[in-house]
Amino acid sequence: MLRTIAAFDRIGEENAFAVLARATELAGQGRDIINLGIGQPDFPTPAHITEAAIKAIKDGHHGYTPATGIKPLREAVAADLHKRFKAEVSPDSVMIMPGGKPTMYMAILMFGEPGVDILYPDPGFPIYRSMIEFTGARPIPVPIREENGFAFSADETLKLITPKTRLLILNSPANPTGGVTPKAEVDKLIAGLDKFPDVAILSDEIYDQMLYDGETHVCLLNYPSIRDRLILLNGWSKTYAMTGWRLGYAVWPGKLYDYARKLAVNLYSCVNAPTQYAGLAALTGPQADVKRMLTEFDRRRKIVVEGLNKLPGISCATPKGAFYAFPNVKNTGWKAKPLASALLEETGVATIGGPDFGVLGEGYMRISYANSAENIQKALARMLEFLATRKAA
Ligand code: PLP
Repeated sequence: MLRTIAAFDRIGEENAFAVLARATELAGQGRDIINLGIGQPDFPTPAHITEAAIKAIKDGHHGYTPATGIKPLREAVAADLHKRFKAEVSPDSVMIMPGGKPTMYMAILMFGEPGVDILYPDPGFPIYRSMIEFTGARPIPVPIREENGFAFSADETLKLITPKTRLLILNSPANPTGGVTPKAEVDKLIAGLDKFPDVAILSDEIYDQMLYDGETHVCLLNYPSIRDRLILLNGWSKTYAMTGWRLGYAVWPGKLYDYARKLAVNLYSCVNAPTQYAGLAALTGPQADVKRMLTEFDRRRKIVVEGLNKLPGISCATPKGAFYAFPNVKNTGWKAKPLASALLEETGVATIGGPDFGVLGEGYMRISYANSAENIQKALARMLEFLATRKAA
């Protein structure tokens, strides 16, 4: 009998990948599937970025790089954070990561152990809770409520902190709700954290360029009082349509940087070299594609929200960020997961039930509008027909 550690029985995953697999299977059977389930841009990576990777291969960048990433890329990240937020960041605190997820993995691993608490958003990205459980720490959900515009509540978050709390995970703009926490609320939260100097903060800002209606991003690097305990998670996946390249970055404080470097040396050595050159071209090259994609997401956002609000039993607040809508489906008579499943099986529209993002996700569905406006219209028409004719299971 193999005797593996119990932690592996506690590790979770992302149901979005299971829905993608089922959608692909149905499509393989000849069904016309519209995927509003997956959280990745439907645009190709801009050409100047892919060309930079090809050039890097041709130029002979095929070997290991430093575990923390090539220096020009770390410098470009620091310069980009300064350009966009006036944030002062040393390239020596920037680490190039193989995607956004490894930063949350490492950060949670650094603080999680039995007997401690880690706070995370619910509904929120499912990997936070999964990794917390993996370490044996107690996951404490921070409620993210529709009545707050799916923003964090500073008061509610601060009330959950105890002497056992080691790490607080924040995410704005947020997956799965599209919620954006206003600056006043962030100010209040950070001021309140002064009372808890032992609590580290992981700020997942991977959607920081995906904001609408004139919103501006509140980057936590700009709060000096928490800089010595702030871990910033960001990356290229969403902004530059680079999910499959596996490229992200973290800004680590103090000694955590070296812990992360050692974890990288033990786990993957470095991010693949051509991908790092692609990331460099993305940050230092023209940003017109980012703007173009965002304009298109904004157009679709309006179509999705307007369409969802016309469906019987569904109401949808207008998301201010990311590329997700999080409609309230409580008045349809359906529970969210059976509804998502019936929609996929019977109409070919893939969505994700809110409970896949935490218990407070019940009564909601995540609709990704990273699909063409035409497909979104088609999906909404199918959903309308379904809800008008099909009794709740
Ligand atoms: N953080 C959030 C909030 C996300 O939604 C995602 C991806 O869906 C990630 C991190 C992970 O990004 P990556 O694909 O770069 O690992």
